[in-house]
Amino acid sequence: MVSNDGEEALDLMLEPWGDVHGILPNETCVVVTHSLAGDGSWPGTQLGDEPFQVDHRPGSVTVWANGHCFHLSDRTGKEIEPYVYGGCPAQEPAL
Ligand SMILES: [Zn+2]
Repeated sequence: MVSNDGEEALDLMLEPWGDVHGILPNETCVVVTHSLAGDGSWPGTQLGDEPFQVDHRPGSVTVWANGHCFHLSDRTGKEIEPYVYGGCPAQEPAL
């Protein structure tokens, strides 16, 4: 969950896709990612089995999702924007 506790809109950047979504003050975005690996590992992580890395600078938060996809929703689970970059392992039929 990424919450904007500030008084200005916050940019939420989803990398490595480069998507940017504004989070208004007092709003929260939930970022979910899924991995293709069945062993629970996350291929892009630098520090071990971590699905996310988060960087902050004034006015923006960057979330690096180490999975295959990302899903953005609000705190109630309502999807903010559909994922459009080529499939989600959690939504495809089992092989
Ligand atoms: Zn997914």
